[in-house]
Parts: sequence; C-alpha cells; structure tokens
Amino acid sequence: MNIILLGAPGAGKGTQATKIADKYGMPHISTGDIFRANIKNQTEIGLLAKSYIDKGQLVPDAVTCKIVENRLAEDDCKQKGYLLDGFPRTIAQAEELDKFAKIDAVVNINIDFSLLMNRLCGRRVCKDCGESFHVSTLNGATTCSRCGGELYQRKDDNPETVQSRLDVYTEQTAPLIDYYTKKGIILNFVGTDDPPQVLFGEIAAELDKLVK
Ligand code: ADP
Ligand code: ZN
Repeated sequence: MNIILLGAPGAGKGTQATKIADKYGMPHISTGDIFRANIKNQTEIGLLAKSYIDKGQLVPDAVTCKIVENRLAEDDCKQKGYLLDGFPRTIAQAEELDKFAKIDAVVNINIDFSLLMNRLCGRRVCKDCGESFHVSTLNGATTCSRCGGELYQRKDDNPETVQSRLDVYTEQTAPLIDYYTKKGIILNFVGTDDPPQVLFGEIAAELDKLVK
C-alpha cells in the first residue's frame, strides 16, 4: 500500500506518519527530514534547500521530485509500500509523482488554522527520532520521552516563517485535495487538539479496510 499524508504544517503529519509507518511496516519518507539531513551534512542539496526552507518557501520541484523518485526506487519501498509525508506539495509534483508511482490512498488531515501558529512556534523536535513535543507539556524537559534524544527548535518554527509556510500551503498545496478527490483516493480527517492517538485510531480504521 502506497500512501500520501497531506495537511498544513503543524497538522500533525509527522506524528501520524510515525504511527502509520510502525503499524503497517512501511518506510516513512519525509522530504522535510531528507532536506534537514542534507543541511546537517552540508551537502550540495542541503545548501540549496536551506535558502528556501529558512524563508518558508518550497524547494524547487525538479530537485524535490528527483530525490523522491530515487528514494522510492530503494528496496524497502518494494515490500509493504511506503508512506510519503510532505510530498507532493504542488500540483506539478503530484503530476510528476504519477509518472513513477502508483498511490493507493491519500490521508488528508484538515485542521483549523487558528491552532497552527501556537503549535508550530511552541514545537520542540527530537534530534534523534524526530518526535514532536509542545513546550506547554514539557515542564522544562530538554530531552525526548521516547528515546532520550536532545530536543531542539526548528529554525523555520518562528512566527514570520510559519506565516509564509501557511500561505504556501493555501496557495500551492491545498489544491491537491481537489486533485486527489477527483481520483477518488482521498480519505478526509479532522485534526484537533486531542491526543494524537485519537486521530490515529480513526486513520488506522480506514487504512485497515484497504489492507484487507
Ligand atoms: P512542515 O510540514 O511542518 O512545514 P516539513 O518538514 O514537511 O515541515 O518541510 C519543511 C520545509 O522543507 C518546507 O517548508 C519546504 O521548504 C521544504 N519542503 C519539504 N517538502 C517539500 C516539498 N515536497 N516540496 C518543496 N519543498 C519541500
Ligand atoms: Zn526521540
């Protein structure tokens, strides 16, 4: 089963992605994570990506699509399928993806935008396992309760950059909802401030129907 996870920044894609990937035994492919790893390792792609990411803009489609095409050609994607998180993010990327992949389901998380600014600006991420936390529930803790890794604040989780990411989502990514609705493969969910386990239960119930 090949799945796309769609939703605004801060909708909880990353958290749901980890849970879906664990449950169905598929690799979790996050273009954001791939770019951040490249930035950390100071690769050529990392250097290019950083200039866009720091401004809350999208990395050019050609670069992003090639990375995904190469990643999907790896062996671990040919067993139980894969989960794409943060890709595609534009119609052009979706059209390109159609040339080298067959998508079975799109999990779309709709969320009230008023929840997102506070969520993203208060977000702390584990540098080892990628799990997200919110400062309001950390009680001053600086390490990950899942793996003990150090928590950090993403450079793009500041009010100005978050606002441009939300604008980019509305203008360039939200049209994908229509694109996949027309293909008849979209599954719609509502993100809330409830514990992520609640939404995961709803998503898994729908995906279970497709696996069987
Ligand atoms: P979020 O969904 O919280 O914004 P991501 O980790 O998915 O975070 O992405 C972080 C940044 O990486 C994006 O703002 C964008 O600059 C870049 N990026 C990630 N995925 C893509 C993509 N598919 N196309 C273009 N740029 C991307
Ligand atoms: Zn961790």
